[in-house]
Amino acid sequence: MKRQIVIAGNWKMHKTNSEAMQLANQVRIKTMDITKTQIVICPPFTALAPVYEVIGDSRIHLGAQNMFWEKEGAFTGEISAGMIKSTGADYVIIGHSERRQYFGESDETVNKKVKAALENGLKPIVCVGETLEEREANITLKVVSRQIRGAFADLSAEQMKKVIVAYEPVWAIGTGKTATPEQAQQVHQEIRQLLTEMFGSEIGEKMVIQYGGSVKPANAESLLSQPDIDGALVGGACLKADSFSEIIHIAE
Ligand code: PEP
Repeated sequence: MKRQIVIAGNWKMHKTNSEAMQLANQVRIKTMDITKTQIVICPPFTALAPVYEVIGDSRIHLGAQNMFWEKEGAFTGEISAGMIKSTGADYVIIGHSERRQYFGESDETVNKKVKAALENGLKPIVCVGETLEEREANITLKVVSRQIRGAFADLSAEQMKKVIVAYEPVWAIGTGKTATPEQAQQVHQEIRQLLTEMFGSEIGEKMVIQYGGSVKPANAESLLSQPDIDGALVGGACLKADSFSEIIHIAE
C-alpha cells in the first residue's frame, strides 16, 4: 500500500516574523523540485499569515502548533481553529508532548481540539508517545493506545481520513536520541493495527503515521524506509532550511 509521505516542521517558539519569512522562503526555494512529498511548515501563530504570503502557490502547506476548541469568546490568549484557517493554514499540530507536559493537555482536551479542527477544515496532526519511564516499564503500547482511543473518541471513519498521527516518543524529542528504526516500526505497526480495529481496514491502511523525535538528515533514510513510517514531524532540524530540505529530499 503506497501512502502519502508527509514531512512537517514544528518550529516551536522560534522565529520573529522577519526570521520566519526568511526561513520559509529558503525552504520554498530548496524544495522547488519536490513533486511527491507533502511538506508542512508550522511556525508560531504570529508568523502564520506572513509565512503564507511567502509560500504563495508553492506546494508547501501551512500548519499551526496548537489551537483552542471553542469558536470564540472570553478565552484570553487563545486562538480558534477558524482564526488559524483564516491565515491560510490547513494543518494543526494537536497534543504535542510539550503541550501535554507543560500546559496540562489531556486526552480529553486533545479530542475536543481534534473535533474542532475537523469542523473548521483543518487537518490535525495528532501527537502520541510514551515517556522514558513508561518505555522502561514496558507500557508503551498501553500508553499510546490510551492516547489514540482518547484523541479519536466519537470520530467517524470519514473524519479520520483527514487525520495524521505522529508517533513521538517523548524521550526522543529534542534529546538527540532517536528510536531505532525497528523500535519505531514496531509502535507504528501497533498504532496501525489499533486504528484498523477502531475504524476499519481502509483507515488502517491509508492513515499517515509520522515518526518524530530527533529526526535529522543522518537518520531520516533508515526511519523513512520502514513500512509503517509515512513521514516525519521534525523539530530542531527544521529550523535550518538546509537540514529540513535534505530530509524532504530523502523522503522524496
Ligand atoms: C518535535 O518537536 O515534534 C520534535 C520531534 O522535535 P525534535 O525533532 O527536535 O526532537
